[in-house]
Amino acid sequence: MLKKYKQLALAMELLNRQARATIVQQVTGLPIKVIRKTYKELHGRSSGRGSLKFSTRGVTSSNLKFKEVTLFAVCFRAFDNKRLESHAHRVIAAFDIYKQSNPAGQLNFSDAWVIAQDLRDKTIQITKCPHCQSWVLLNAREDLSERCGVCKANMESR
Ligand SMILES: [Zn+2]
Repeated sequence: MLKKYKQLALAMELLNRQARATIVQQVTGLPIKVIRKTYKELHGRSSGRGSLKFSTRGVTSSNLKFKEVTLFAVCFRAFDNKRLESHAHRVIAAFDIYKQSNPAGQLNFSDAWVIAQDLRDKTIQITKCPHCQSWVLLNAREDLSERCGVCKANMESR
């Protein structure tokens, strides 16, 4: 009973943040029909169909988006050692902080979900630029530079 309740509570947390129905199903194991129906009741429109972005590289299309992905990664990292119930709870906590620090941010929860998966699997990593100590996201774009954009620009103009 408690398990069922926790499952439903988590589903609502995800749905309130407009997570795609497929993500909610993956996390909670609830029937997709019920999830889609609830999504529509909450948001007045259907959950996006189609597949999720395959990886973070699909999200970092522009410099602005890349900066936002970096910001989300920093938020996600902040919950590294916190005792959260599950990966999904950690994504929710990080997404809330991201939204608070950047209310106009363009990343939606489903983007955050893809990014968090890559961070968890270490496909992408967040680190500090060894030169100026600002945050740098590694492997999220084609260029594998370990310098941050600022230092790289300085190098190139020298
Ligand atoms: Zn730097």
